[in-house]
Amino acid sequence: MIALSLAEIASVVGGQTHDIPDTSVQVTGQVVRDSREAGPGSLFVAFAGERVDGHDFAAAVVEAGAVAVLASRPVGVPAIVVDDVQRALGALARHVVERLGATLVALTGSAGKTSTKDLIAQVLRTKAPTVFTPGSLNNEIGLPLTALSATEETRFLVLEMGARGIGHIRYLADLTPPKIGLVLNVGTAHIGEFGGREQIAEAKGELVEGLPEDGTAVLNADDPLVRAMASRTKARVLLFGESDEADVRAENVRLTGNGQPSFSLHTPTGCSEVTMRLYGEHHVSNALAAAAVAHELGMSADEIATALSEAGSLSRWRMEVTERPDGVTVVNDAYNANPESMRAALRALAAMGKGRRTWAVLGQMAELGDEALAEHDAVGRLAVRLNVSKLVAVGGREASWLQLGAYNEGSWGEESVHVSDAQSAVDLLRSQLRPGDVVLVKASRSVGLERVAQALVEGT
Ligand code: ATP
Ligand code: MG
Repeated sequence: MIALSLAEIASVVGGQTHDIPDTSVQVTGQVVRDSREAGPGSLFVAFAGERVDGHDFAAAVVEAGAVAVLASRPVGVPAIVVDDVQRALGALARHVVERLGATLVALTGSAGKTSTKDLIAQVLRTKAPTVFTPGSLNNEIGLPLTALSATEETRFLVLEMGARGIGHIRYLADLTPPKIGLVLNVGTAHIGEFGGREQIAEAKGELVEGLPEDGTAVLNADDPLVRAMASRTKARVLLFGESDEADVRAENVRLTGNGQPSFSLHTPTGCSEVTMRLYGEHHVSNALAAAAVAHELGMSADEIATALSEAGSLSRWRMEVTERPDGVTVVNDAYNANPESMRAALRALAAMGKGRRTWAVLGQMAELGDEALAEHDAVGRLAVRLNVSKLVAVGGREASWLQLGAYNEGSWGEESVHVSDAQSAVDLLRSQLRPGDVVLVKASRSVGLERVAQALVEGT
């Protein structure tokens, strides 16, 4: 964080100082919520969780060098005490980003936020120092912590914002008001909680509503619900996509034999060829979104194309490809799943598996509400239509819907099987995999299917 005195922090968050002999002492290190990350000069934020109470670690973090604790009660060591720690953290983030010289880029969407955020960061950092959300820390706690990790040198601050309901993005965009707001897509992620696609669009669009007049709304031209958000902003609108109307677009999109996308990138200032290291056609949309942001920040088509072609995945379990010594390819996409990302991953599997035997090891897509049956059924059917050789549906009721979809689409007998848990899937695969096979593993986070992918990778 930029250096701030405890007196200034207390005043920004409206807190009382306790047990602080000298309030002119500065926080010069990181703001952390995990006591194990507290180091010299840091500020420890104590949250009272259900199982663990951060206040219990107050003495330990000060021992480790923390200057003070942001807490909801006195803790016997230097502390700034507030009523609501989360709110105080947000207020501090807002204060700090106002003082930073960095341009803030925020993005949201149903699928691909983390992948796109990682791409944006990898492109922008070829130009100037860039700080970005680690992993998927995109909520009311992770977002301010990321913003607070920026320093005086930071030129670009790239923030992933997640929404689980109306008002969430507005809250986040208020804490760290972006200059560039990017909306990727409106899918069916968390549809059960939202109620429907229009509500999801309503919630995601809050990002562009708050943009300033001299800001930019970067919108997906290929997604009608996102495109329509142009009417909700006073900022300039920049469109990306494969559509002819997009300002930043891809032409001649194809998948290489490995399933890695390749395309001609067109920006308003030039054109350049991209071949990605990431797998799956869905990354074309993510790459175009990143290119649009980079263009807006002054990068040329050539600079953007070079950076996109070199960009790898920064976050684990997202289309992580491992070649086993015996010629089996394991694609671990077990980080998460929703209907859009399931379809994208199955298409990537089909492209990677040309002339090879392909396995889709799939589990439940969570939080689909009333759509759950239809969506699982549709994914099972798609696996058959894409000629996936074998479908292994793992888990309970939802997995049986996947298998039934495949069955009804024309896969019967041993082409689609339903097993109850990860271990059974591993046993089945171990006994049946042959050299040259390609295995995709994917389900919602709660299913924990990465265990299957890891067992397959380690088990040779
Ligand atoms: P979360 O809400 O969990 O933070 P996210 O929006 O950050 O998710 P990613 O983590 O980037 O998304 O990707 C989640 C899954 O969606 C991955 O399996 C990935 O392969 C897939 N995916 C990535 N980009 C797209 C896209 N543009 N369209 C559809 N699926 C995508
Ligand atoms: Mg994410």
